[in-house]
Amino acid sequence: MKHKLHNLLILLFVILPGRSLMAQSATAQAYTLYPVLWQQTAAEYRALCYQAFNAATHQLSTYSSRSLRKRHAVIVTDLDETILNNSYYNAQLIKDGKSYTGSSWKQWTDRAQATAVPGAVAFLQQAAKRGVHIYYISNRDTSEVAATIANLKALQLPDADVEHCIFRSGPSSKEARRQQVQQQHEIIMLLGDNLSDFTDAFEKKSVAERFTATDAAKANWGAKFIVLPNATYGDWLNALYDNRSGLSPAQKDSILNSSLSGIR
Ligand SMILES: [Mg+2]
Repeated sequence: MKHKLHNLLILLFVILPGRSLMAQSATAQAYTLYPVLWQQTAAEYRALCYQAFNAATHQLSTYSSRSLRKRHAVIVTDLDETILNNSYYNAQLIKDGKSYTGSSWKQWTDRAQATAVPGAVAFLQQAAKRGVHIYYISNRDTSEVAATIANLKALQLPDADVEHCIFRSGPSSKEARRQQVQQQHEIIMLLGDNLSDFTDAFEKKSVAERFTATDAAKANWGAKFIVLPNATYGDWLNALYDNRSGLSPAQKDSILNSSLSGIR
């Protein structure tokens, strides 16, 4: 697998001779080719999503209706790559040889055309049927609320309204927003593709620290914490970059390659 990607990168350099800037940009895009294709075409990705929502369904079934009512139970979920599939946006970036920008992302979310992650709609509808409200805590910008609500409604997701869409208006951390929900409710389950969707123990941490925090929360995975797969982007990648922004493609390339552990 590693060799195939390596060959692909070499091929990109060969077919774009003497155009170093373009070749560099092609390298950055090539890194997301496998994960985006995987999300769009691998039945294994699909199966993992169903596995996550089956675990969520099981977890919900452990509560009696009386207990859910008594607790004012709610579910907190992330949106992107947890409930909404945005792989089309990332695929288009690859096709166009472009990188993520806030404005092209906003153009995508304005279209309200994200599809649902497999299993997401049935699970959230079932929770709603049991009287459990859903809070969508997302780092989409607050200017994206209206289009996102249209997208959620088109997918027939419950609680698609302003009260339940708590988007980013300040720091990227979701902790304050979780606490806001917790003031009146008990959060019985959290869903996300990024570990900072669950607790602040994962925020701006190194790879080693993220491993330690993951191990410490071992009993929660597949129970109170439901994780969806996303190999295209996320804090796992930011951790490799030491949570620094503004790195050049060449710096990123060097960091990624030096982060590989080979045979000793
Ligand atoms: Mg997400």
